[in-house]
Amino acid sequence: MKIKELRSRLRGELITSDDPGLERAHEALIWNGRKPGRQARLIVRAACVEDVQEAVRFAAESGLTVSPRGGGHQFTGIAAKADMVIDLGALDGLKIDVAARSARIEPAVTNERMATVLARHDLAFPLGHCGSVPMSGYLLGGGVGWNSGAWGIACFSVMAVEVVLADGRLVTAAADENPEIFWAARGAGPRFFGIVTAYHVRLHQAPRAILTSVRVYPLDAVDQVAAWAEQAMARAPANIEFTTKISAAPPQMPVGGMILQAIATVFASGEAEARALLAALAEGAPEGTLHRLDDVPTPFDVLYELTAKSMPEGRRYAVDSVWSDATYPEVLGEVVRAMTQAPSPESIALVMLRSPMARNVEDAAFSQIGRIFGAVYGIWQDPVADRPMIDWLRTTMDTIAPLGLGTYAGESDLDRGPRRLKIHSAAAAARIDELASRFDPEGLFGGPGARARAA
Ligand SMILES: Cc1cc2nc3c(=O)[nH]c(=O)nc-3n(C[C@H](O)[C@H](O)[C@H](O)COP(=O)(O)OP(=O)(O)OC[C@H]3O[C@@H](n4cnc5c(N)ncnc54)[C@H](O)[C@@H]3O)c2cc1C
Repeated sequence: MKIKELRSRLRGELITSDDPGLERAHEALIWNGRKPGRQARLIVRAACVEDVQEAVRFAAESGLTVSPRGGGHQFTGIAAKADMVIDLGALDGLKIDVAARSARIEPAVTNERMATVLARHDLAFPLGHCGSVPMSGYLLGGGVGWNSGAWGIACFSVMAVEVVLADGRLVTAAADENPEIFWAARGAGPRFFGIVTAYHVRLHQAPRAILTSVRVYPLDAVDQVAAWAEQAMARAPANIEFTTKISAAPPQMPVGGMILQAIATVFASGEAEARALLAALAEGAPEGTLHRLDDVPTPFDVLYELTAKSMPEGRRYAVDSVWSDATYPEVLGEVVRAMTQAPSPESIALVMLRSPMARNVEDAAFSQIGRIFGAVYGIWQDPVADRPMIDWLRTTMDTIAPLGLGTYAGESDLDRGPRRLKIHSAAAAARIDELASRFDPEGLFGGPGARARAA
């Protein structure tokens, strides 16, 4: 098939290297202000599933590698790193079956849109923490969402997926239909060997009350905060999400440098329950807060307003993450030490501590989890700082790695070569490779076959 023929078969747009707009279109694929160098020669803006199939068939015939792109939110810009990018940004259908408490979601549907629609029906889902992130790569990599302690890592609420395979076939995968593809679609992330064009998910009853309390401390309270959090979360139920955020103090605060914010959000069946849980958690909290907010109602729209401020669009980002079963004081202590060395004061870190009652993982490609999830976000503006910021992030993660079990696909520094912290367990990684060799033998999506293809 020639390019001309591909163009004539698509309902959506095709941008080629003959098009002066390719460079700009390539940059626009990636959310991070720090863009990867251009690799894609073709960008297909799919308007429908058939476009995805046509594009995949063309790439297979032409020996091109392919990357699906949901919202370009993976911080390394991996979505743009292939000969052909298939942009799924227009596939944004969302259908809710209120009675069955289920939904069919196309890849470009964002957390914020899902939250708004679900709220109308008194339903909820373990949506990601930032409104602009789409389901596409979020669910495929696992999905560490709001209330994941009680609702589970988001991919475990996926009941079926519709997938375009490397030969252009559209298949459905579920526990009883193409189960191996279904196994991989829950957590394989960028190692998945197909393109998910829809997710079928189970929804949850909306919490009647979502309340948040925040205690702000100076950085030197880290040991006391960590010790309190460890004890308090040991007796906390799964519907409390606890995170310590490390960031620069806002100008109105009477301290310079960085601060700690101990943030607890409860997703409860009523306000009385939410208040009681936050009060129980606060027992034994260190004195000496710089600021306190108690029991603030934070429905999803408010949560998204708050998180958007922490991670503004347009900034340059370098991000990595760790799952750990070490003690909270150990992990928080290392992260705080690293944050004091951050070359850019805009940088933040989040260190989440899960309840012992939090839901565990099922048998799927998503195979690394720990009681602690730490994510370090290098954030800056000047391209001159790229190298020092990336070096700082990598030194930080090397220091934390001995405490870690693995890293999380969605927020992993995928540009690093082989490393100690892996996205998948050894067994899961081997199974993904084996399935990729079977379903994508030519390595269209960059699996093991890609090596043979390149040779
Ligand atoms: C501001 C911000 C906040 C975030 N917050 C959270 C959070 O709270 N919890 C969390 O878990 N993650 C979070 N993330 C990470 C996010 O979930 C991942 O980066 C995820 O990959 C984003 O989805 P995407 O579709 O934009 O991915 P893209 O960057 O578009 O794609 C990344 C890769 O995923 C694969 N991929 C994506 N879509 C498909 C598909 N439909 N079929 C096959 N392969 C596909 C491709 O290999 C692609 O190269 C956040 C990211 C940002 C930028």
